[in-house]
Amino acid sequence: MIKIYNTLNKQIEEFKPLKSGRVLIYHCGPTVYWTQHIGNLRGMMFGDLLVRTFKYNDYEVKYIRNYTDVGHLSSDEDEGEDKMEKGAKRENKTPLEIAQKYIDIFEKDTKKLNLLEPNTKPRATEYIKEMQAMIQTLINKGFAYETDLAVYFDVSKAKDYSRLSGQSEKDKIEGTGTGDIQDKNKKNPNDFALWFFRTNKHKNALQVWPSTFKSKAVKDGLGFPGWHIECSAMSKKLLSDSIDIHLGGIEHVPVHHTNEIAQSESANGIKYAGYWMHNEHLLVDNGKMSKSEGTNYSLAEIIKKGFDPLVLRFFFLSAQYRSKQNFTWRALLGAKNGLDHLRNQIRQLGEKKGSINSDYKNNFLQAINNDLNTPQALAVVQKLLKSNLNKKDKLATILDFDQVLGLDINKTNDENVPEEAKKLLEKRNKARADKDWTESDRLRTEIEKLGYTIEDLNNKTRVYKTD
Ligand code: AMP
Ligand code: ZN
Repeated sequence: MIKIYNTLNKQIEEFKPLKSGRVLIYHCGPTVYWTQHIGNLRGMMFGDLLVRTFKYNDYEVKYIRNYTDVGHLSSDEDEGEDKMEKGAKRENKTPLEIAQKYIDIFEKDTKKLNLLEPNTKPRATEYIKEMQAMIQTLINKGFAYETDLAVYFDVSKAKDYSRLSGQSEKDKIEGTGTGDIQDKNKKNPNDFALWFFRTNKHKNALQVWPSTFKSKAVKDGLGFPGWHIECSAMSKKLLSDSIDIHLGGIEHVPVHHTNEIAQSESANGIKYAGYWMHNEHLLVDNGKMSKSEGTNYSLAEIIKKGFDPLVLRFFFLSAQYRSKQNFTWRALLGAKNGLDHLRNQIRQLGEKKGSINSDYKNNFLQAINNDLNTPQALAVVQKLLKSNLNKKDKLATILDFDQVLGLDINKTNDENVPEEAKKLLEKRNKARADKDWTESDRLRTEIEKLGYTIEDLNNKTRVYKTD
C-alpha cells in the first residue's frame, strides 16, 4: 500500500489508481529561460522519487514532465513579459534558441542527478493546436469569453474554484489573475488569460500563432497561450482527461494548479486528478533562493566546488519532500561525508550478491511508501548495514533499495576520484599491461599519497578514498 499526502484533501491517503497496476503522473516542468537552480532540481527529484517508488511497487508508470517554452509571464499572475522573451533579449537569441539552450543544460543536470527519463517531455509550443481546441471548448460551454486583449476563463463559472488552496475568493482577488493589462472588459478581477492577443502590453510578442479567437485589435486571432492552459492541454493529450497524480512546486497551489483544475474540469466534465502532490522549497542559508544574493546555485556550481552530483541527490534524500530543506555548503559537505561513508561501507561487502532480505525490504517499503519518507528509508539502509546479516545478502538488499534511492551504489568509486589521481591510475594501468611492476608500484604509492586506495581485483582495479 502506498500512502501519499493529497493537497486536495489536506491529508495522507492510501493511493488508489484509476486503473489497477498503472499510474498516470503529470509534473509541471521548468520554464526553460534560465539555468534551473538546485531548488528547481529538488522539485524534479521529488517527481523522480515518486516514479521510482511506484516502479518499485510494480506499477506501470506513465510520467510526463513538460517544458514551458511560451506563455509563462514574469509573475504567475499574468503580469509582465513572457519569460522566454526576456531570456531571448538578455542573450540576443530567439526564444527557440533560448529554449534549446536551457533544455540541454537541464537534461544534462537531470542525468547527472540520476533522474529517470519521463515517458514524454512535451514542449508547450508543440501543443498549440490542442490548447486552442480546449479554449474553444471552454468558450462553447460558456466558461470562457473573448475581449479585444485576451480570452479569459470566467472563474465565477467554475465549480468550487478555490478548493485546492482553500482560500476565500476575496484572498484570490489579491493574489491571482488580475494581471497588468488593465482590461476593462474583464468580468471578474480573478479571471485569468487562456490566450493573449498580440496587442497592448504584448504587442511585440515574438512567439505567436493564428487562432479562431476574435479580437478587433489583431488579425487572425494572432497571439499566444496562457501558461495554465498548457499543462491542462498536454496532460489531456498525452495522458487522459482524468489522471492519477499531478505534481508541482508548493507555490503552484493557489494559482497555476487552481487554474488548471478549473479549466480541465470545466472543459472535460470529469475530475482532473485524484491526487495533487507538492514539494516544499529549498532554502539557502535559511532564506529564499535569490539571484541578487547569488544563492540560486546551479548544479554546475556544485560540481565546480568539487562535489559529485550524487552528493546533492543524497542531500535531497535526507529530507522528506514536504518539508523545507536548508542548503548550506556545510550541509552539503556533511552529505558528501555521509555518501563517502556509505560507499565505503558497501565496498566492504565485497562483490558477491546473495538474496534480498524480506524483513529489511518490508521496512524499506514501509518508509518509502509512507509519503516518500526518504530519511527513514536511509535509516533502514544503515540498520541493515549494522545488522549481523551476511555480506552477500546485505549487498543484494541494498542494490535492490538503490532502485529507489538512485545513488549508483553498485558503481565503484572511480567517478569521485580527482583528475590527478585518475591520470596516475591510467599510467599505472599501462605499466601493468607492460608488466612493469616497479613502475606500477611506484604509481600506487603516488596515488595513495593523494588519499586513495587501490585494489586489484580479477578483472578490474577499484579505487576509493582511503577511510
Ligand atoms: P519555474 O522555472 O520558475 O517555472 O520553476 C520550476 C519549478 O521549480 C517549479 O515547479 C517551482 O515550484 C520550483 N521551484 C522554484 N523555486 C524553488 C525552490 N527554492 N525550491 C524548490 N522548488 C522550487
Ligand atoms: Zn503546469
